[in-house]
Amino acid sequence: MTNTTTLPDDLDKLIACPSCDLLQQRVIPAPGKFSRCPRCHSMLISNKRNVIDNTLASAVSTAILMCAAVFFPFISLKGAGLTRDASVMDAIGAFTSGFMAPLTLAVAAFIVIIPVLRATALFYALAPLRFGRRPAKHAAKSFRLAMALKPWSMAEIFVVGVVVALVKVVDLADVSLGPSFWAFAALVLIVVFENSTLCKWTIWRLLAPNK
Ligand SMILES: [Zn+2]
Repeated sequence: MTNTTTLPDDLDKLIACPSCDLLQQRVIPAPGKFSRCPRCHSMLISNKRNVIDNTLASAVSTAILMCAAVFFPFISLKGAGLTRDASVMDAIGAFTSGFMAPLTLAVAAFIVIIPVLRATALFYALAPLRFGRRPAKHAAKSFRLAMALKPWSMAEIFVVGVVVALVKVVDLADVSLGPSFWAFAALVLIVVFENSTLCKWTIWRLLAPNK
């Protein structure tokens, strides 16, 4: 018969790869190092300092940059005697009529609403830890939501799409990039920074130290 009293301790020594689900012995790396999955090489544990600080910085930066991205001009096109300025809101509102109308909601959600919601959830979950306080009441749910929304946060994919489109447009008109474009470009770097510093295992251990 299984001894259920020892099961949590045994499970606590295991870790599942977030990418390929390989269950393996948990090895806490030396300070400043990180461990990887032996099968797919995804990062398992990053034993780096300032995980909370770095993740919070990413969340706050995302919120600030998104404000700039939404309210400042995105791009200006000049050609054939005409000048046309466009903002991100113009891009979102380009599908408000006809059968493509649902795209308005989808574009707004993927490039603005979900990134901001994710940044807010991360801030809510981690800010109390940063200031030495106990986690907020729904901190675990908030962090889980932030992780679940990650694949749907596509601000950086939007920028890549715009750059690809500009390659074709640049021969037809003079293109000027506005502050909003550079804010989105900075968001791409923020995403790379967050992916390289966020350690879910470390944050879960801080949010639920007894689990
Ligand atoms: Zn793996």
